[in-house]
Amino acid sequence: MNPDQAFPRQSPTASTAANETQSFLKNLANAIARDALNLHYQPRYKLRTGKTTALEALVRWQRPEVGLLYPETFIPAAEAHGLIYQLDIWVFEQCCKDLIWMREQLKASIRISVNISVLSCESVYFSQKLIELCKKYELSMADFIFEITVSTHMHDIRKLKAFCVTLGNFGAEFCLDDFGTGQSPLRNLLELPVSSIVIDRSLTHNIVSYERCEIIIKHLISLADELGIKTVATGVEQNDQYKILAAIGCDQIQGHYMSRPMNRKKLSAEILGL
Ligand code: C2E
Ligand code: MG
Repeated sequence: MNPDQAFPRQSPTASTAANETQSFLKNLANAIARDALNLHYQPRYKLRTGKTTALEALVRWQRPEVGLLYPETFIPAAEAHGLIYQLDIWVFEQCCKDLIWMREQLKASIRISVNISVLSCESVYFSQKLIELCKKYELSMADFIFEITVSTHMHDIRKLKAFCVTLGNFGAEFCLDDFGTGQSPLRNLLELPVSSIVIDRSLTHNIVSYERCEIIIKHLISLADELGIKTVATGVEQNDQYKILAAIGCDQIQGHYMSRPMNRKKLSAEILGL
């Protein structure tokens, strides 16, 4: 057999794509190592009182000559190519620094909600590294909520549970992100010690136009209530959505209607409802 047939060489297009991926990952690794990522924060409010319950940290990558990149354009690559652990650690350390800054500048005692990948949680070193960072910055784990999106990447829920138990012993809280879509089986509510669920914005988005969406959200809220779990609706963009969520007893809301994500310098006592 002609060796070329047995092991076909990559077509120029495939090899170009592979080179581009390698260069993209190298740039991302450099960005993490050189602090070239940054965080935006979006407040989450208690619906009944209008007070901020937490700030969600959302990572951004400002690439010279390319522009501002949003997480959906680089988190999947970081997860697929082993960079997510470093990225999640970088985000947590930056959250620690920003939290100290907010306390000093805004005199605000606020909690930060950090998105983390289930892949990072599967490493036993991850929880230890987070505990170390908390000690280094003299913060408490109770200052943080960890948002977990249960994705198809997850292999072993026991490792995720162990992660939650370890950090939970230090006062951290956990939240199931994007609840109601994708990989969010009810079993997770049984097995993981979560204190809140985030109702996915695709459901909030349709709450006014589709009665079925309202019914689903209403029942998610009452299920969570009975389990002693809080509900957060994200992606609130209009007053009509806000009013329905208030009427059906949602605990917390987040979205452009109240506030867009912003860098820490733009946060003020007024935005935070303090
Ligand atoms: P998520 O945790 O569901 O984050 C909420 C997303 O909704 C954010 O997008 C936010 O900007 C957007 N959003 C908030 N309010 C509204 C609204 O009213 N309307 C609309 N259309 N969108 C709204 P973003 O920042 O692009 O983040 C996307 C996802 O990337 C996040 O979804 C989260 O799963 C992931 N992610 C973000 N930051 C991190 C991080 O530091 N680490 C990890 N591992 N994942 C992250
Ligand atoms: Mg989130």
